Amino acid sequence: MKRRKLVSLALGLALAFGMTACGSSQKTADKKNAEKKPAAGALIGVTMPTRSSERWIHDGDNLKKQLEQLGYKVDLQYAENDIPTQANQIDNQITKGARLLVIASIDGTALTTQLQKAADKNVPVISYDRLIRNSENVDYYATFDNYKVGVEQATSLLVGLGLKKPDGSEGTAKGPFNIEVFAGSPDDNNATFFYNGAMGVLKPYLDKKTLVVKSGQTDFKTIATLRWEPERAQQRMEDLLTRSYGGGTKVQGVLSPYDGLSIGILSALKSSGYGTAGQPYPIVTGQDAEVASVKSIIAGEQYSTIYKDTRQLASVTVKMADAVLKGNKPQVNNTKDYDNGEKVVPSYLLNPVIVNKDNYKQQLIDTGYYTANQLQ
Ligand code: BGC
Repeated sequence: MKRRKLVSLALGLALAFGMTACGSSQKTADKKNAEKKPAAGALIGVTMPTRSSERWIHDGDNLKKQLEQLGYKVDLQYAENDIPTQANQIDNQITKGARLLVIASIDGTALTTQLQKAADKNVPVISYDRLIRNSENVDYYATFDNYKVGVEQATSLLVGLGLKKPDGSEGTAKGPFNIEVFAGSPDDNNATFFYNGAMGVLKPYLDKKTLVVKSGQTDFKTIATLRWEPERAQQRMEDLLTRSYGGGTKVQGVLSPYDGLSIGILSALKSSGYGTAGQPYPIVTGQDAEVASVKSIIAGEQYSTIYKDTRQLASVTVKMADAVLKGNKPQVNNTKDYDNGEKVVPSYLLNPVIVNKDNYKQQLIDTGYYTANQLQ
């Protein structure tokens, strides 16, 4: 009792003297838990964006399994990329008495009301993979280093084109090469990080005209793909090929930020005559190491993907949730990069890895992420 009073006094003083954004978030989560019942058996609400992409199915399954192993009850929901559905699911979880929420948002700016409700009931929130924006009621963020994902996507494009070697040194190719660039969903905070990371790497090559974007489309808004929909990417690639690649000009590289988009892009290329011995596919990147795309990499169609081990992300998140519910301080490793518009959210960033034909066995099979059979 005494200790609790001291803690509140210390928190009060800290507030009075003004705290940094992350210090304040730590205080909020701690305060929420100081007022709570014991953590054992607590209900945790987990909301994922969609089942249409395999990665989120793995995320949901891993989170549920690992939380249940610690004795928590889990309400796991998918919203099939429909924003009001996700908002309803979160409302319901709060009503059902969820004691903590783990949210992978569809639109990172659309959950302010739900998060306020959670805060009013002292329910802490962990933003999962995608940062929830415009709300001070986000306590922690678990994700991969999203800027690095973009850097790796662009780097593997350069390696595929021969402009760089895998060890980072100069490649033997000289170019110029024609490339086109795609970005993710504008309402997903990650999409901008991927874009900025990738464009930072490509810029010097674009400036020197070693890389040429024939369509001229490079700004984020123009090349973004709402809701990460493969059909939109396919349509855009078809339009680009029709408008900018007539008369024998070929596209030699495509920066794609997600495997689902890469599949759409490759099918547009195929319809346009690419994918034969005389006219090979361009170097096409991706993200998530989804089964269909790893198979495509093995078949020599897609060039690379970015592997983000969803087991690790679940594990970090589960540790965070467990710590918060027990009134302990979760481990974070970044307290500067993820400003959600209201505050810098204390984050734990994991390391993404480039996967291509040369290392997929070692990265994906030897680590037990997939079995060899799944990739046949
Ligand atoms: C995730 C990526 C994923 C994309 C589309 C992003 O927020 O970080 O891993 O490819 O959403 O689902």
